[in-house]
Amino acid sequence: MGLRDFFLTRITKVSSEPKKEIKENLWTKCVHCGEICYKQEVESLLNTCPICGFHFKISAMEKIKIIVDENSFEPINETLCSLDPLKFKDSKKYPERVKAAQKKTGLNDAFISGRALVDGMPVNIGALEFNFMGGSMGSAAGEAIARLVEDAVSRRCHVITISSSGGARMQESILSLMQMAKTAAALARLNESGLGHISVFTNPTTGGVTASYSMLGDINISEPGALIGFAGARVIKSTIRQELPPGFQTAEFVQNHGMVDLIVHRLELRKSVSDILNFFG
Ligand SMILES: [Zn+2]
Repeated sequence: MGLRDFFLTRITKVSSEPKKEIKENLWTKCVHCGEICYKQEVESLLNTCPICGFHFKISAMEKIKIIVDENSFEPINETLCSLDPLKFKDSKKYPERVKAAQKKTGLNDAFISGRALVDGMPVNIGALEFNFMGGSMGSAAGEAIARLVEDAVSRRCHVITISSSGGARMQESILSLMQMAKTAAALARLNESGLGHISVFTNPTTGGVTASYSMLGDINISEPGALIGFAGARVIKSTIRQELPPGFQTAEFVQNHGMVDLIVHRLELRKSVSDILNFFG
């Protein structure tokens, strides 16, 4: 009897007992296959489903930790945060939205970046935190990405970026769109210096992030099943007035169309990144 079966029998046995006997946080339901999974098992698999392999959402910092050597991550540019030059207001003032996101995540803006080691090799690595205003790229995130890349050029190491984003930050309008050019220009300088960029797509990677630095990896890697696209499927469908092909904008679809090089399970990610870094030399 496997660990999961054992616990499934356990849950049947205790189900007649009062509800409070079942510890709520012991189990989790996979949103993809609907199976009830033992939470500890899911966690030991880096938050993936033991049945169907679905990748649960994790934080930007957890994604970084999966790849880098233990305790090797040293954050840089932590204090960068968005200003409000446009005095933007929708149902709430922009600075209020930023403040709420800062409180929720403990970060100053959406992009975490730093220096680290992968199998002893120095790298600069950064990730967008989806919980910070949908991982949107405004001036602060764009600046953090550009600085991360420039720091890599100055200390001669490769760059790893991990994306999870709804796109450019609409509250900063044109200023956020300018980050697309800025991050792309920084990566061009990295390329001219003979250094590599590994881009990792996690669910979802969309909009201005996909359309800028994310797609500019020398090697583009995606988590299985991740949504990768520019405009949303509904918008495209209503614009071109045609049915979209099955699996449209999934990692697998995008790979078949040549925009992603590898689809890698979270458990294999560190090894894949390490192999690529060795290949870069
Ligand atoms: Zn599942």
